[in-house]
Amino acid sequence: MKKVTNRMKMTIAGYSNNESLARMCVAAFAAQLDPTVEEISDIKAAVSEAVTNCIVHGYRDTIGDIDITLKILDGDTLYIRISDKGTGIEDIKQAMQPMFTTCPEGERAGLGFAVMESFTDSLRVYSKPGRGTAVTMTKALRRRG
Ligand code: ATP
Ligand code: MG
Repeated sequence: MKKVTNRMKMTIAGYSNNESLARMCVAAFAAQLDPTVEEISDIKAAVSEAVTNCIVHGYRDTIGDIDITLKILDGDTLYIRISDKGTGIEDIKQAMQPMFTTCPEGERAGLGFAVMESFTDSLRVYSKPGRGTAVTMTKALRRRG
């Protein structure tokens, strides 16, 4: 069991403008681990994808709350949980396949989960149709110096 050495929670309204707010807040929290520029941009990209999914797929034409929980584990690992109480996902395995999207006519590439997976060390997706979706990600930020 990893030790939680710091934590924070925030709830943002699912307006698309708040996507950059979420990204910056997570980056600010992660700053205590002295990440590299590359690590920070990986974290921002992963958070962007998760929050955008809540807004676009979870809440669609409505505005709902997005909950974000952040933790530092064992003093060197960032834990991120991003969840909505929106539509949920019918088939999680299929949704996580690269290029799978339920909005093919739009500008969606179906690569959000692939980005989250490749820019973090672990990605888990929990979802129930009609109840909502949660993604958890961890990323070890190696200490330098
Ligand atoms: P892109 O992220 O490249 O713009 P995308 O959002 O369709 O396209 P993913 O982010 O990989 O691709 O998500 C794949 C599919 O999983 C989505 O098309 C959607 O059907 C479903 N999905 C993802 N997140 C959620 C969510 N929070 N609520 C409901 N469905 C979701
Ligand atoms: Mg997406």
